[in-house]
Amino acid sequence: MSQDLYLDYHHRDLKEHQRLLISNIRALMERYGDKYWLEVDAGERFPEEFVREYLELGLAGLMIPEEYGGAGYGVQEAALVMEEISACGGTSYHVRAMYYPIDIIVKHGSKQLKEKYLPRIAKGELRLFAFAVTEPEAGSDTARISTYAKREGDRYIINGRKIFISRVRESDLMFLVARTSPYNPEKRYDGISLFLVDLREAKGIEARKIKVMALGPVYELAIENLEVPAENLVGEEGRGFRHLLGALNAERIVIAGELVGATRYLIRRAVEYASKRIVFGKPIGSYQGVQFPISSTYIELLAADEILHRAARLYDEGAESRIVGLYTNAAKYYATEVAWKAANTAMDTFGGYGYAWETGIERKLREIRLYKVAPINQNLILAYIGHSILGLPRSYEP
Ligand SMILES: Cc1cc2nc3c(=O)[nH]c(=O)nc-3n(C[C@H](O)[C@H](O)[C@H](O)COP(=O)(O)OP(=O)(O)OC[C@H]3O[C@@H](n4cnc5c(N)ncnc54)[C@H](O)[C@@H]3O)c2cc1C
Repeated sequence: MSQDLYLDYHHRDLKEHQRLLISNIRALMERYGDKYWLEVDAGERFPEEFVREYLELGLAGLMIPEEYGGAGYGVQEAALVMEEISACGGTSYHVRAMYYPIDIIVKHGSKQLKEKYLPRIAKGELRLFAFAVTEPEAGSDTARISTYAKREGDRYIINGRKIFISRVRESDLMFLVARTSPYNPEKRYDGISLFLVDLREAKGIEARKIKVMALGPVYELAIENLEVPAENLVGEEGRGFRHLLGALNAERIVIAGELVGATRYLIRRAVEYASKRIVFGKPIGSYQGVQFPISSTYIELLAADEILHRAARLYDEGAESRIVGLYTNAAKYYATEVAWKAANTAMDTFGGYGYAWETGIERKLREIRLYKVAPINQNLILAYIGHSILGLPRSYEP
């Protein structure tokens, strides 16, 4: 069947440890099937049981160097794991945020910070699931954030607001992006700094849950006189945006992994249903109006997978930043479009049953829709390709 053919192809170049990771995820997902994810969706709740087992497998340490108790792998392995969770019908939304800031801590954090947090994150004892960038006024224009961190002796006092921040109450640690000097239109990205906030002891953060279409939990944060020890500044004060770019690239890669996995899941479900649903005396999959959209989505899946894994390899090899930026953005953009097409194709294949919550198809459609706007909306990727890669005139100052 097509799904097996995909897997044979996809697994062609995988290393032994990568195959092992995939088989571990499949074994885990046997206990967390479609019914479980439907129940999580209906209850709008955090999948605590799944997350606990995931962490017990040592998967939090995937990208943490061995000297700090991790496996020392790269974003390629993180993307493969995210893909497999979602290919099995689950979602990696709840666990993936720990992978993108890790590189910033490893590359730019102080020795003291690494020793304090990395071994415990690797063991799954501390959950780094929250990554707070977006603000109500700034939106996609990150340079315009106004959450402000003022140094006072051995600590920073932070005030501001964040919106749509995922998994805050479910985390022990939160990566927080704030200004340490005011916005300067001449040097828009200077003066941004990164902090690792220990939420267990943090006073001054009020988190209001926002009801959303799918996934979540997501919060609006009111931050008032939050005190963060100066040693929890990650990297150089005021130069955080340069460090942040690496995390944003890693985030695009793991999300593309999730979306390639979701596409595999939806194609499999559509093929199974179209092969057995008889209408007008034949399986609907024999009608080309049903068959061809599935076939063309499958071809696009192969292309999305190629871009994704090239992006992940380039990131791990530390390739030139413009090339990494091109491929990570292309991977996120294209994987989103293909997964969105897969979701609509599966909806069409299932007819009225696709609309029924219990088939799980409309759940996937709602989940995938998020990636048209987050973590970066598709328009901004096209604008980046247009002006930064193709040299077209700019519509706005990045
Ligand atoms: C469920 C969920 C979870 C999230 N989790 C997190 C999280 O954990 N951490 C975090 O920091 N953020 C998170 N976000 C926020 C998300 O990253 C932002 O919503 C996203 O970056 C877009 O910002 P915005 O909503 O302010 O849209 P805006 O920036 O206001 O954009 C609105 C629309 O305008 C268009 N647009 C804007 N500028 C341009 C332009 N120059 N050219 C063309 N079109 C343009 C965009 O395409 C978009 O459609 C989450 C959001 C959701 C919904």
